Amino acid sequence: MIAKRKRIGWGRSFKNFRGMPRKEITDVDIPEKVIIPLKQGYGEETEPIVEKGQKVLAGEIIARNDNNISSPVHSSVNGVIDDFINLNFFGIKTTAVIIKSDKTRNWISPLKEDVKTNHGNDVSWESFSSEEIERRIYLTGVSCLGNYGIPTHFKSSPMSTADANHIIINCLDSDVYDLEMTEILQNEELSKFVVGIKLLKKILPQAVAHIAINKKSKNIIDKLEGLLDHEKDIIVHPLESKYPINLDPVVAGIVLDEKISPYTIHQNKGILIYDVSTILNIYEGVVNGKPLIERIVALAGEGYIDSHFLRVRIGISFDQIINRNVKAGYDIRFILESPLWGEKIEDLSLPLDRTVNCIVGIVEGNKGEFLSFARPGFTKDSYSRTFVANFIPFKKHIDTNLHGEERPCIFCGYCEDVCPVEVIPHFVAKHVERNLIDDYLVKYKIFDCIECHLCTYVCPSKIRISDYIREGKQSLIKMGIEDPGSKAFSNEMNLENADSLNKNNGETINE
Ligand code: SF4
Ligand code: SF4
Repeated sequence: MIAKRKRIGWGRSFKNFRGMPRKEITDVDIPEKVIIPLKQGYGEETEPIVEKGQKVLAGEIIARNDNNISSPVHSSVNGVIDDFINLNFFGIKTTAVIIKSDKTRNWISPLKEDVKTNHGNDVSWESFSSEEIERRIYLTGVSCLGNYGIPTHFKSSPMSTADANHIIINCLDSDVYDLEMTEILQNEELSKFVVGIKLLKKILPQAVAHIAINKKSKNIIDKLEGLLDHEKDIIVHPLESKYPINLDPVVAGIVLDEKISPYTIHQNKGILIYDVSTILNIYEGVVNGKPLIERIVALAGEGYIDSHFLRVRIGISFDQIINRNVKAGYDIRFILESPLWGEKIEDLSLPLDRTVNCIVGIVEGNKGEFLSFARPGFTKDSYSRTFVANFIPFKKHIDTNLHGEERPCIFCGYCEDVCPVEVIPHFVAKHVERNLIDDYLVKYKIFDCIECHLCTYVCPSKIRISDYIREGKQSLIKMGIEDPGSKAFSNEMNLENADSLNKNNGETINE
């Protein structure tokens, strides 16, 4: 079923940037060693069930804890357990297992531990009971994906399968380097995607599935309509793909037609949100018995010689992934997932985990630009439509330079125009800047801010609006003033580590 079209009055369309990844996938060599964090994706840390010196196979479960909310963790290589270390993984402290690999590619399915060959399962998925699908999702580790994990009769999510009301499948391509779904969901991938959704529906039968997709992906929408013709409770939502519609609270709010705050998403409200790669992983896990031991990761941005996709084993270090692709002679900033909201990767020796989709590489723009705002921009993106690149199809350029100094607010209202949650960003930011921090800010919806950083991006005066807003939220929380229901979210965000979170936000790109 196709949902009625909805008009979106805020946001920004990003298109035509240099450094967009090509849709070709290269297999990266199996590394000599991998570092596997025992907490990856949704859930708590798992307990190792292997010992130092023990031989392991790629796909074998090396850690699990069926008593806490977690999903099993697998060895991603054939090799020997070398050591256990403590790891600080982007602010999350966890134990990690170092495995020395023999560099062979084959893997086993954790569904049939006695079968040491690939693809141990050739039974039709249609005959699987929901218990069997849940077992496969859990044992292959796929259940750690999504905003709340995937509920199964194992403890993979705090939500039970009976409590799930809505499954939102986020196919929106509104971030700077997102590929269009017409490129990703071609032929076989589209069929796998549809099977993945049907499998999910089978274990969560009372939940309505919503596929949120760019309305311009007409080809895919038509095919989905055909493939899902008789499926009850699967609704396709063609939407205007303007950033930040792809962020969880925004897509959930639009699809469900109600106000969804960041806190709602982090509480048990029956809303599960998954991306396309999770749905494809469900297919692989259930139908082929494939454990979550590798990811397809995009290298995106002008920091790379060739931006494209790589298939890599979990636990490989970031520097091993990017080393052959980085442009020589440039200072490059690497960021997880998005140049707008992603976290700067300070330590490239850290391993890649099961949730990474994209490693952005952007050239550091260190040179000052005097009167930058007065220069014509052939390749600068601009919300104000003052740059030629908005009218003619030059490929637009991004670096970390702010292209000008911070100036006073000119009350242009651009930050207000683009905000998806009706905050008045310049107003709230000004209060925080002047240290006017009290519950007045709550009235002005400071806690509704989803930290998309679009207000900062469009500000012609280069004001770090979203940084001020984040600072304001942190100060209010320290003063004991919180939005109702926000406690869980504050804990989730680990505000003690707030400084290390999103520290590049708002300064990465600016028009
Ligand atoms: S975009 Fe910048 S200059 Fe314009 S109103 Fe907002 S803060 Fe002021
Ligand atoms: S105020 Fe928050 S939600 Fe609104 S545009 Fe700025 S960062 Fe995004």
